[in-house]
Amino acid sequence: MKLLYKGKAKSVYERDPGTLVMEFRDDLTAGDGAKRETKAGKGAINAGISARLFQVLQDGGIETHFLRFEEPNRHVVKKVEIVPLEVICRNIATGSLVRRYPFKEGQELHPPIVEMGYKSDEYHDPFLNDAIAMALKLCTREELERMREITLRVNDLLKGFLLERGIILVDFKVEFGRWDGRIILADEISPDTCRFWDAETRQVMDKDRFRKDMGEVLEYYREVQRRVLG
Ligand code: 5GP
Repeated sequence: MKLLYKGKAKSVYERDPGTLVMEFRDDLTAGDGAKRETKAGKGAINAGISARLFQVLQDGGIETHFLRFEEPNRHVVKKVEIVPLEVICRNIATGSLVRRYPFKEGQELHPPIVEMGYKSDEYHDPFLNDAIAMALKLCTREELERMREITLRVNDLLKGFLLERGIILVDFKVEFGRWDGRIILADEISPDTCRFWDAETRQVMDKDRFRKDMGEVLEYYREVQRRVLG
């Protein structure tokens, strides 16, 4: 297969026109790639978790790029034109939100907050508003509205699914693509792209363990996998 793109944690290959293979690698990065490590098995864990969560979303009526999971670490996906935006949804204040604004760490957010960032390592994924996104010709006003609407629906579906499994969905990042003239969900949903807290102990079960050198990164990813797939 032809390698089309190698990102920080995934490689994307062209299988046939219209279909791609997304390979989840064992690389972990933080700080726009400044901090790097490889953890054997991470790619397969994330591929499994993401496949299950995309299935949950599809069952809930959300259109996604996901076609099938090829074990251990590949997703076969529709080829979309990626919108270079990171759409972030927050149920609990933490991370960059509490660094930028006077929210209290751990404060619940009702309704959830949706923010958008420009996907660019060079510019460090800066947050932007609708006017900037449109002036940069990243997408249209209608596409922005659609992405926000889908993101809130993703939040509702995943929040419920995860809480039944003892996991609080604190916040997450999603990406979208254009397919057949429509905006559909793309990329991945995993402990690399979400904050997951244990519902009882509030233990961190996601990439913050790596970002903040908390240790036992893979052990917690495996626990998320066990609960999500179980
Ligand atoms: P924050 O803005 O607080 O750093 O991140 C909010 C949420 O979006 C977290 O769940 C975080 O994992 C996710 N997120 C934000 N930017 C990125 C990014 O560039 N890559 C990944 N993998 N996740 C991100």
